[in-house]
Amino acid sequence: MDCIFCKIINKEIPASIVFEDEDVIAFKDRNPIAPVHILVIPKKHISSVADAEEKDTLLAGKLIMAAKKIAEDLEISDKGYKLLVRVGKGGGQEIDHIHLHLLGGAKLAENIHPISPC
Ligand code: AMP
Ligand code: ZN
Repeated sequence: MDCIFCKIINKEIPASIVFEDEDVIAFKDRNPIAPVHILVIPKKHISSVADAEEKDTLLAGKLIMAAKKIAEDLEISDKGYKLLVRVGKGGGQEIDHIHLHLLGGAKLAENIHPISPC
């Protein structure tokens, strides 16, 4: 499968990994938009939240709990942070492997607004 995030999971391409367990891996976004910008992904390839199944419920929760731990480890938890998941082209998703953006280390703008019908 030609999935760049699966290649990171399989260590076929490099990434700056900040967390890993049996189900989840997290690494620094290569084009950060905040002082802390981490992508938290399941090791199981699921293209998008729209493709997740009932059996993926626990795994979805593990992504959030991993993000919480990473935020604590990076000492941004007290001041707060954002968790963002884009879904499909209309949601701005570019990589078709579920990923949770952990964004923090600064106060972030609220600039989500429609730009066109999708
Ligand atoms: P999204 O638009 O939600 O699909 O976000 C995809 C994110 O993946 C973007 O923020 C990219 O900068 C990031 N990204 C793409 N390729 C890599 C990579 N090889 N290593 C780290 N981050 C990546
Ligand atoms: Zn994948």
